[in-house]
Amino acid sequence: MDEGYPRRGVHGRGVHEEEGHGLDDAAYMALALAEARKAAALGEVPIGAVAVHRGEVIARAHNLRETWRDPTAHAEVLCLQEASRRLYGWRLADVDLYVTLEPCLMCAGAIVLARIRRLVYGAPDPKGGAVSSRAQVLVPGLWNHHPEITTGVLADECGMILKDFFRRVRKGLHVRRDVGVVERARLESE
Ligand SMILES: [Zn+2]
Repeated sequence: MDEGYPRRGVHGRGVHEEEGHGLDDAAYMALALAEARKAAALGEVPIGAVAVHRGEVIARAHNLRETWRDPTAHAEVLCLQEASRRLYGWRLADVDLYVTLEPCLMCAGAIVLARIRRLVYGAPDPKGGAVSSRAQVLVPGLWNHHPEITTGVLADECGMILKDFFRRVRKGLHVRRDVGVVERARLESE
Protein backbone atom coordinates (compact mmCIF):
# COMPACT_ATOMS: atom_id res chain seq x y z
CA MET A 1 0.00 0.00 0.00
CA ASP A 2 1.18 3.46 -0.78
CA GLU A 3 2.53 5.04 2.41
CA GLY A 4 3.36 8.33 0.74
CA TYR A 5 3.40 11.26 3.11
CA PRO A 6 1.70 13.59 3.23
CA ARG A 7 -0.88 12.54 0.72
CA ARG A 8 -3.49 14.72 -0.78
CA GLY A 9 -6.98 13.60 -1.62
CA VAL A 10 -8.05 14.02 -5.21
CA HIS A 11 -10.77 16.61 -5.65
CA GLY A 12 -11.63 16.39 -2.01
CA ARG A 13 -11.96 12.63 -2.03
CA GLY A 14 -9.68 10.19 -0.37
CA VAL A 15 -8.29 6.99 -1.69
CA HIS A 16 -10.12 4.44 0.41
CA GLU A 17 -13.59 4.45 -1.04
CA GLU A 18 -12.87 1.07 -2.54
CA GLU A 19 -12.58 -0.43 0.94
CA GLY A 20 -16.31 -0.47 1.42
CA HIS A 21 -16.68 2.43 3.76
CA GLY A 22 -20.26 3.45 4.27
CA LEU A 23 -19.52 6.93 3.08
CA ASP A 24 -16.66 8.53 1.24
CA ASP A 25 -14.16 10.92 2.79
CA ALA A 26 -16.08 14.02 1.77
CA ALA A 27 -19.25 12.74 3.40
CA TYR A 28 -17.50 12.00 6.69
CA MET A 29 -15.81 15.38 6.54
CA ALA A 30 -19.21 17.00 6.07
CA LEU A 31 -20.19 15.47 9.42
CA ALA A 32 -17.06 16.93 10.99
CA LEU A 33 -18.01 20.29 9.50
CA ALA A 34 -21.42 20.01 11.11
CA GLU A 35 -19.61 19.57 14.43
CA ALA A 36 -17.51 22.63 13.69
CA ARG A 37 -20.69 24.65 13.19
CA LYS A 38 -21.88 23.56 16.64
CA ALA A 39 -18.64 24.95 18.06
CA ALA A 40 -19.15 28.26 16.24
CA ALA A 41 -22.66 28.51 17.67
CA LEU A 42 -21.09 28.34 21.14
CA GLY A 43 -18.54 31.01 20.30
CA GLU A 44 -15.83 28.39 20.09
CA VAL A 45 -13.26 28.31 17.30
CA PRO A 46 -15.08 26.09 14.80
CA ILE A 47 -13.22 22.82 14.57
CA GLY A 48 -15.00 19.47 14.41
CA ALA A 49 -14.07 15.81 14.29
CA VAL A 50 -15.69 12.44 13.75
CA ALA A 51 -14.34 8.95 14.39
CA VAL A 52 -15.25 6.16 11.99
CA HIS A 53 -14.95 2.49 12.88
CA ARG A 54 -15.32 0.09 9.94
CA GLY A 55 -17.55 2.53 8.14
CA GLU A 56 -19.67 3.47 11.15
CA VAL A 57 -19.49 6.86 12.81
CA ILE A 58 -18.86 6.06 16.48
CA ALA A 59 -17.99 9.50 17.85
CA ARG A 60 -18.47 13.15 16.99
CA ALA A 61 -17.02 16.13 18.83
CA HIS A 62 -16.23 19.78 18.50
CA ASN A 63 -13.87 22.19 20.15
CA LEU A 64 -15.00 23.05 23.68
CA ARG A 65 -11.90 24.80 24.95
CA GLU A 66 -13.65 27.96 26.10
CA THR A 67 -16.80 26.26 27.35
CA TRP A 68 -14.85 23.88 29.55
CA ARG A 69 -11.99 26.30 30.21
CA ASP A 70 -9.74 23.43 29.28
CA PRO A 71 -6.71 23.81 27.01
CA THR A 72 -6.98 20.13 26.05
CA ALA A 73 -10.64 20.16 25.01
CA HIS A 74 -9.84 20.02 21.31
CA ALA A 75 -12.27 18.29 18.96
CA GLU A 76 -9.84 15.47 18.23
CA VAL A 77 -9.12 14.65 21.87
CA LEU A 78 -12.81 14.65 22.77
CA CYS A 79 -13.55 12.49 19.76
CA LEU A 80 -10.86 9.96 20.70
CA GLN A 81 -12.19 9.84 24.25
CA GLU A 82 -15.71 9.14 23.03
CA ALA A 83 -14.52 6.55 20.53
CA SER A 84 -12.56 4.76 23.26
CA ARG A 85 -15.64 4.65 25.46
CA ARG A 86 -17.68 3.25 22.58
CA LEU A 87 -15.13 0.54 21.80
CA TYR A 88 -14.27 -0.23 25.45
CA GLY A 89 -10.60 0.30 24.87
CA TRP A 90 -8.00 2.91 24.09
CA ARG A 91 -6.46 1.13 21.10
CA LEU A 92 -8.26 2.58 18.11
CA ALA A 93 -6.34 0.68 15.47
CA ASP A 94 -9.42 0.23 13.26
CA VAL A 95 -10.57 3.80 13.63
CA ASP A 96 -10.24 6.62 11.13
CA LEU A 97 -10.33 10.17 12.42
CA TYR A 98 -11.74 13.00 10.33
CA VAL A 99 -11.02 16.54 11.47
CA THR A 100 -11.70 19.84 9.78
CA LEU A 101 -8.30 21.38 10.59
CA GLU A 102 -4.77 20.02 10.64
CA PRO A 103 -4.18 18.68 14.18
CA CYS A 104 -1.99 20.51 16.67
CA LEU A 105 0.96 19.00 18.52
CA MET A 106 -1.18 17.63 21.34
CA CYS A 107 -3.74 16.07 19.05
CA ALA A 108 -1.14 14.59 16.74
CA GLY A 109 0.38 12.99 19.84
CA ALA A 110 -3.00 11.65 20.93
CA ILE A 111 -3.53 10.20 17.46
CA VAL A 112 -0.26 8.28 17.78
CA LEU A 113 -1.10 7.08 21.30
CA ALA A 114 -4.53 5.90 20.18
CA ARG A 115 -3.02 3.99 17.21
CA ILE A 116 -5.45 5.69 14.85
CA ARG A 117 -5.43 3.86 11.53
CA ARG A 118 -5.97 6.83 9.30
CA LEU A 119 -6.12 10.58 9.75
CA VAL A 120 -8.08 12.69 7.28
CA TYR A 121 -8.10 16.43 7.66
CA GLY A 122 -9.46 19.36 5.74
CA ALA A 123 -7.64 22.66 5.95
CA PRO A 124 -3.97 23.11 6.82
CA ASP A 125 -3.11 25.16 9.92
CA PRO A 126 -0.02 27.19 9.04
CA LYS A 127 0.24 28.56 12.60
CA GLY A 128 -0.36 25.48 14.69
CA GLY A 129 -0.45 22.38 12.51
CA ALA A 130 1.86 19.61 13.62
CA VAL A 131 1.32 17.22 10.72
CA SER A 132 2.65 19.12 7.74
CA SER A 133 2.76 22.84 8.59
CA ARG A 134 4.69 23.87 11.72
CA ALA A 135 5.98 20.43 12.44
CA GLN A 136 5.78 16.96 10.93
CA VAL A 137 5.39 14.71 13.92
CA LEU A 138 3.51 11.90 12.19
CA VAL A 139 6.20 10.95 9.71
CA PRO A 140 6.75 7.21 9.42
CA GLY A 141 9.55 5.87 11.62
CA LEU A 142 9.44 8.59 14.26
CA TRP A 143 7.19 6.67 16.68
CA ASN A 144 6.07 3.08 17.00
CA HIS A 145 2.93 3.97 15.10
CA HIS A 146 1.94 6.35 12.37
CA PRO A 147 -1.46 6.78 10.76
CA GLU A 148 -2.11 6.92 7.08
CA ILE A 149 -2.76 10.52 6.22
CA THR A 150 -5.06 12.17 3.72
CA THR A 151 -5.25 15.95 3.53
CA GLY A 152 -7.28 18.53 1.69
CA VAL A 153 -10.71 16.90 2.00
CA LEU A 154 -13.28 19.72 1.77
CA ALA A 155 -10.36 22.02 2.54
CA ASP A 156 -12.11 25.14 1.25
CA GLU A 157 -15.20 24.61 3.38
CA CYS A 158 -13.14 23.70 6.43
CA GLY A 159 -11.01 26.82 6.05
CA MET A 160 -13.95 29.07 5.24
CA ILE A 161 -15.84 28.32 8.43
CA LEU A 162 -12.76 29.45 10.37
CA LYS A 163 -12.34 32.59 8.28
CA ASP A 164 -16.02 33.43 8.73
CA PHE A 165 -15.74 32.88 12.46
CA PHE A 166 -12.78 35.21 12.86
CA ARG A 167 -14.39 37.80 10.58
CA ARG A 168 -17.39 37.83 12.90
CA VAL A 169 -15.12 38.04 15.92
CA ARG A 170 -13.46 41.10 14.40
CA LYS A 171 -16.87 42.68 13.94
CA GLY A 172 -17.68 41.95 17.56
CA LEU A 173 -20.35 39.43 16.63
CA HIS A 174 -21.12 36.20 18.50
CA VAL A 175 -18.30 36.59 20.96
CA ARG A 176 -18.69 35.39 24.50
CA ARG A 177 -17.06 37.65 27.02
CA ASP A 178 -14.63 34.94 28.13
CA VAL A 179 -13.86 33.95 24.54
CA GLY A 180 -13.27 37.52 23.48
CA VAL A 181 -10.07 37.89 25.43
CA VAL A 182 -8.64 34.73 23.99
CA GLU A 183 -9.64 35.52 20.45
CA ARG A 184 -8.34 39.05 20.61
CA ALA A 185 -4.97 37.64 21.59
CA ARG A 186 -5.13 35.20 18.71
CA LEU A 187 -6.20 37.84 16.23
CA GLU A 188 -3.44 40.17 17.31
CA SER A 189 -0.94 37.44 16.55
CA GLU A 190 -2.22 37.06 13.00
ZN1 LIG B 1 -5.42 19.94 18.97
